[in-house]
Amino acid sequence: MTFDDAFTKALIARVSQTVIAHAEELTRLDQAIGDGDHGINMKRGFEAVLGEADSLAAKPLPEALKAAGMQLVMKVGGASGPLYGTLFMTLGKELPEAPDLEDAEKALGAAISAVMARGKSKAGQKTMLDVLVPVHERLSAGGEDLLFELSDAADSAAEATVPMKAEKGRASFLGDRSIGHMDPGARSSALILRAVCQAIGECR
Ligand code: ADP
Ligand code: MG
Repeated sequence: MTFDDAFTKALIARVSQTVIAHAEELTRLDQAIGDGDHGINMKRGFEAVLGEADSLAAKPLPEALKAAGMQLVMKVGGASGPLYGTLFMTLGKELPEAPDLEDAEKALGAAISAVMARGKSKAGQKTMLDVLVPVHERLSAGGEDLLFELSDAADSAAEATVPMKAEKGRASFLGDRSIGHMDPGARSSALILRAVCQAIGECR
C-alpha cells in the first residue's frame, strides 16, 4: 500500500468520523461508571483533528500522527486525552514513513508501553488497555484476514470489560458497582482500531 496524502486523509476521516458518530454512546457508557464526559471529550478532540485534516495529510505519516496526538492532548482533556495523546504521539515517533506489519506491531507495542507508563496502569484493570493489549497480541500472532480479525478482536475485548471491576480511573471509585458495564475508553479504543483497519483495507 502507499502511504500518501490520500491515505492519511482517509485515515483521519475514518477515525474522526467514527468517534464523532459514536459520541453519545461513549457518553452513555461514561454516565454509567464515570462522569459522563467521554463522548464529549473525544468528539471535541477528533473534531479538532478532522478540522486540520488537510494540513495533517500533507505531512509524512509519523509527523501527522504526532501532530494529531498533540491535538488530542490539548482538546480531549480528562484522563483519556493525555493517554490517547501519548498513544498517537508514540506511534508517530516509532513508525517509519511507510510501515510494514512488523513496524506496526513494534510501534503499537511501544505506544502501549507509553500509555501504561503515563496511566500507571496495565491490562486487566478495565481501561482502554484491555482493548489495546489483546489487539496488539492478535497483531503479533499475524495470519490471514488480519484486518477483520483485529477489528473483531477489538470488539470482543471491549465486550470483555463488562464483567471486570475497574481498578484505574474514575470508574474505580465505584468498586464492585463498576461491574456489569463496558468501559468507555475500551469502547472508544475498539472504535478507533476498527476505523484504522477500515482505512487500511480501503487504501491497500
Ligand atoms: P475522565 O475519567 O477524566 O472523565 P474520560 O471520561 O474522557 O476521562 O476517559 C475515561 C476513560 O479513560 C476510561 O474509560 C478508561 O478507559 C481510561 N482511563 C482512565 N484512567 C486510565 C489509566 N490510568 N490507564 C488507562 N486508561 C485509563
Ligand atoms: Mg469521564
